[in-house]
Amino acid sequence: MRIVLKECAWEPLGGELLVLTDPREVIRLRDQDGQVGALLTALDEGPGTVAGLRDRLAAAGVELDEDAVRAAIEGLDALGLVECESDLTLGDPALDARHASTLAFFGPYATLDRPRADFVNQLRRSHVLVAGVGATGSSLVQCLAGLGVGRLTLVDRGEVEPGDFAGQFLYRHADIGASKAERAAAWVRAYDPCAEVRPVDRWISGPDDLKDLLDDVDLVAGGLDGHPEAHLWVNEAAVRAGLPLVVGGATRSEITYCSVDPGRTPCVQCDENNHPAGAGGFAERARGRLTARTALIGPPALQIGSLIAYEALRYLTRFEEPRAAGALITLDPSNGMVQEHRPFTPDPGCPVCPR
Ligand SMILES: [Zn+2]
Repeated sequence: MRIVLKECAWEPLGGELLVLTDPREVIRLRDQDGQVGALLTALDEGPGTVAGLRDRLAAAGVELDEDAVRAAIEGLDALGLVECESDLTLGDPALDARHASTLAFFGPYATLDRPRADFVNQLRRSHVLVAGVGATGSSLVQCLAGLGVGRLTLVDRGEVEPGDFAGQFLYRHADIGASKAERAAAWVRAYDPCAEVRPVDRWISGPDDLKDLLDDVDLVAGGLDGHPEAHLWVNEAAVRAGLPLVVGGATRSEITYCSVDPGRTPCVQCDENNHPAGAGGFAERARGRLTARTALIGPPALQIGSLIAYEALRYLTRFEEPRAAGALITLDPSNGMVQEHRPFTPDPGCPVCPR
């Protein structure tokens, strides 16, 4: 295996080595004898094997045996500073060009055991069901397609209406009157011919309406701009199937989303049970949102879709832990998007959560 040093800068300071990988992150390493700095310099010459790096160090006057070099490389790997040369790309020039930004995004999270190509391939293999391709789902679908999610099932019964154009950029004037699921699927196919997309023209009127669609699905995502209880039905369907769920919604005055990791976090139904109607629970907030949904314009609609997609990205690749797992996150557009994070309380009697 040839080891590559990720983009970083370093300089010695006293007995330490300061390593900068991001303007917000400085790593401080003990390096009394300058050996770590010498190893970084050896790696900076280009990709190398452990034996090759030992030789470069020896040429620079630093005598270390292979075991010591290997241990030092493992230490750099634990800090996220090195990766494997052979897995920097997807191995196909066209795919590498298409996913160049995503490959670069995962660079800091790659390790010798988990190369950046692995994250992107994980996305390309993933299947996400999007419940609702309206105000929230429109930008969500665009973000998921951009990430390179390989399979999408898009569920909606609505038709494209003139009033949708303030914030639903999947659709075109010529689409007015057409099935949203069909037009959204057509958008995805035109955007990325590699993506598999299945439109489902169906009302969601209970958890069972999603049951037959969840085979091979990795994650369920969606908006809350439909029936007041739609999020509870989608929650029940996802949790019973053991699938992660990310849902959210936006109005003129607030953007909210949450995620559920079945069996590991409380679910939306737990929160509903702990905050019955009128007590400010998730469902209550959702109901209040309904009267204002026609006021949803592009900026908050794009914001919520991107937040849901980003949380979905965490579940699909685990590049970092989900941020909204078992909690309601609220952003206030009128106050510079200041966030509130309210954890859900588990309901031991929840009829949906696994026992
Ligand atoms: Zn629950």
